[in-house]
Amino acid sequence: MTRHEEEYIRHIYSKIEFKDRKIKIKEIADDFNYSKQSVIEMIKKLKARGYVSYIPYKGVSLSIEGRKIGARITRVHRLWELFLVRELDMSWDEIDKEAQLLQHATSELLEEKLYNYLGRPDYCPHGDPIPDENGKIPKKEYNTLAEAKLGDTFVIHKVKDDPALLKYLEDKGIKIGIQLVIQSILEYDGMIYALKGDQELIISGESTKSIYGIIN
Ligand SMILES: [Zn+2]
Repeated sequence: MTRHEEEYIRHIYSKIEFKDRKIKIKEIADDFNYSKQSVIEMIKKLKARGYVSYIPYKGVSLSIEGRKIGARITRVHRLWELFLVRELDMSWDEIDKEAQLLQHATSELLEEKLYNYLGRPDYCPHGDPIPDENGKIPKKEYNTLAEAKLGDTFVIHKVKDDPALLKYLEDKGIKIGIQLVIQSILEYDGMIYALKGDQELIISGESTKSIYGIIN
C-alpha cells in the first residue's frame, strides 16, 4: 500500500472510529482539499482492493478488512506521535507529518517494540485513543470546552488534530491534562476567560468547540 492510500484509509477510519456511518465524497475532498474527481478515483482503487465500500451519492465506508487496516495504521501513527512528543520533545503541531512517514515504514515487530517501550499507552498526545492489537479502542465521552459554564473546572483530554488550532493552543501553553477554571464567557461569540493555575488565558469561542474534556 502506498503512503497516500494509507492516509486515505486512516482519514476515513478517524471519521468512523466512534460511530459507523457513510462519508460523502465531498467531505473527504474538503478535508484534504482535493477535487471530488481525484477522491473518487482513489476510492475506486481502494474499493477494487476490498478496503472500502462505495455507493455513488450515498458515500464511503470501510470494509471489515479496511477497518482492520485503518485501526492498525492509526495505532502505529498515534504511537509514533507519542514517541515524538515524549522522547524527542517535538510539539503537538509538528508531529503529524513525521508520524505519517514513520507509520508507513513500521513493521509489526517494531510496532510491538514501540508499544512496549512507551508503556502500552492508551492515548496519543492529542488525547485520541490508541487502538489495541485487536483494533479495540477505549471509549470515552467528553464535553467540549464550549459546553462549560461559569465557575466550572475543565480538564482537557483531547484536542482536534488541526495544525492551526494546535499551534494556537501551544502558544498559550494549553495542553492535554491541564485544568482550566472558567472565569467568564463572552455571550457574543463564546470567548472564554479562564485561569490555568494563576495565569489568565483568553480562548477564542471558535476553538472552544474543538477542545474536549471533562467538566467538574
Ligand atoms: Zn494524535
